[in-house]
Amino acid sequence: MFIGPTVAAALALWISNASGGVVAIRNVNVVPMDVERVDAAQTVILRGATIESVGPARKASLPRGATVIDGRGKYLLPGLSDMHAHLAGPGDPPGMAEAELILFLANGVTTIRNMRGFPSHLVLRGKVARGELLGPAIITAGPGLDGQSAKSPAEGDFAVREHKSLGYDLIKVLPGLSLPAYDAIAQTARQLKIPFAGHVPPGVGLLHALDAGQQTIEHLDGYLEHKKFAEAVRHTIDAGAWNCPTMAVMEANLGLVDEAALLARPELEYVPRPFVDLWLKIRSYGNPPRAVSQRMHANRMALLKALNDGDARILMGTDSPQLFNVPGFSIRRETQLMKEAGLKPFDILRSATLRAGQYTGRPCGTIQPGQCADVILLDADPLKDVLNLSRLAGVIVQGRWLPRSDLQRRLKAIRERPGNYRRRAGVP
Ligand SMILES: [Zn+2]
Repeated sequence: MFIGPTVAAALALWISNASGGVVAIRNVNVVPMDVERVDAAQTVILRGATIESVGPARKASLPRGATVIDGRGKYLLPGLSDMHAHLAGPGDPPGMAEAELILFLANGVTTIRNMRGFPSHLVLRGKVARGELLGPAIITAGPGLDGQSAKSPAEGDFAVREHKSLGYDLIKVLPGLSLPAYDAIAQTARQLKIPFAGHVPPGVGLLHALDAGQQTIEHLDGYLEHKKFAEAVRHTIDAGAWNCPTMAVMEANLGLVDEAALLARPELEYVPRPFVDLWLKIRSYGNPPRAVSQRMHANRMALLKALNDGDARILMGTDSPQLFNVPGFSIRRETQLMKEAGLKPFDILRSATLRAGQYTGRPCGTIQPGQCADVILLDADPLKDVLNLSRLAGVIVQGRWLPRSDLQRRLKAIRERPGNYRRRAGVP
């Protein structure tokens, strides 16, 4: 996913030409996502990076000089969030992280939470926020803390202070932490008012992590061990914790998707070949017997449904790019699995919009005046079929309109990089 200097220069030029002006979307069906509803025939006006007004199209007057988008027959939603992503870091090809940002945007993702931070990600976060680089807003964890990077309570305490002073948004906890080191991390994080989130280390356990104030639990860690779902769901709600279940990557991780089906995913053509080779290798070892994998997957699906039915707060996250989950496109895979788990479209969409706004505390995630001008335009109603999310007519990020043709052009430039994975001829 390396972008050459020419493409990078073109991107920079495009951004400097972008007006921080006014965009009006006329006569559109608004799916505001505060509650489940569609408001037909609305005109939405975005000024700079903020939604200025939403109201009936017949009453709206269009500001002079506005870029006008015909929204007839289309559906306007808040931009999506992928709350568990991994941007390329040191050791990855130069330009790869920037390309990943485009892959996210081209799939309607306007906010990402990066769950393994490097100093380069702090730089990217700033560039995107200032409008110098096109991409979703970035929230980033620091480097993950595990049994190696935080061997003792003192090291845990030191690491939290360091990550906070470097400017990371949250602390990432990983398996391998001892209970005393975990408790020291939790205590310092609470003291410094920086959230800590991530895995549930086996030595800590779900209930202790919830009681300690871990903000998000990734991958439904610790739940299957707990057995009593109802009790775990209640404990989760009482603790005010969030779940980021990452269903698609875990399904691939359990070896439950056939290799041929994985290799036929069209989005693999955006990925450097060595990544796909590595994923194949990772996938082929360490899997439990198929019957066990299937039972684990079924339990995960039942658990997600139980959390959702119990009104626990769920965040959509995909863990991309891990195991055949290509940034941005991974949202489609995750959506499909949440649907299979029995969640209704509104609840799935909410996990990537309203909930993400509540989690980050940013004024994003609904379509209302004063909210951020990150929205997506779809060709069909996602409340009827949530998979309509992929029928993207365009994206507005920080008030900038990127129509489908523009997104496709940017995607093509990334897809055509030499060294990317190519599907075998004859594979549809
Ligand atoms: Zn991850």
